[in-house]
Amino acid sequence: MVRAKTPDAVIVATGSTPSRLEIPGADGRNVATCTDVLLGRRKCGKHVIVAGGGLIGCQVALWLAGQDREVTVVEELPDISTGGFEANESMLLEMLEREDVVFLNGMHIRQVATGAVIVTDDVYKTVSVRCDTLVLAMGLVPRRDLYDTLKMEIPEIYAVGDARRPGTIQEAIWDGFHVGHAACARVP
Ligand SMILES: Cc1cc2nc3c(=O)[nH]c(=O)nc-3n(C[C@H](O)[C@H](O)[C@H](O)COP(=O)(O)OP(=O)(O)OC[C@H]3O[C@@H](n4cnc5c(N)ncnc54)[C@H](O)[C@@H]3O)c2cc1C
Repeated sequence: MVRAKTPDAVIVATGSTPSRLEIPGADGRNVATCTDVLLGRRKCGKHVIVAGGGLIGCQVALWLAGQDREVTVVEELPDISTGGFEANESMLLEMLEREDVVFLNGMHIRQVATGAVIVTDDVYKTVSVRCDTLVLAMGLVPRRDLYDTLKMEIPEIYAVGDARRPGTIQEAIWDGFHVGHAACARVP
């Protein structure tokens, strides 16, 4: 469709997709992405592990715990950091505590098995954690296939928002504004 319109300029704002885990069992039916879960495309079992304790992982964990599920967040870093304002972060962490969400910080997911996920700490002490569904929330990767397909054909092409670099709604809006503003300035 883009080619048929022979545009002078294209702004690609195709967003991002959740990062995948490259470990044994990660392609199993008990593994779902955070977006699939939030959009209702995938259902979770009673015992849920959320891989990733950033803003998205914490929000998904809270949402699932509020639906009477037992939720554990596994995070590689020693501390949870949602990267938001301090007041928002402490409120989120308080709500997670109230919902009895368990945090396994400094732990790495190594394998997805039937009914469990195998995690290790930094010195490879291994623990098996009960898990009906593993929800992936370990960051986002730009969805840039459209940009890559068109970049050699279109004289003026931009990737904005998450397609340029996954971030926040505010950053995506700024990106769009800057590109739109610059393009307007060039119109004779
Ligand atoms: C679970 C989750 C929670 C988040 N929570 C927050 C939060 O609390 N606060 C915050 O600031 N940010 C949050 N973010 C990040 C925020 O959603 C993104 O930074 C923002 O939506 C990026 O905007 P965008 O327009 O670049 O991409 P998107 O909002 O992802 O929009 C891209 C659109 O392009 C469409 N598309 C893709 N490919 C094509 C194609 N080939 N042709 C046509 N259309 C296409 C997609 O369907 C989609 O509708 C969250 C993200 C996720 C995944």
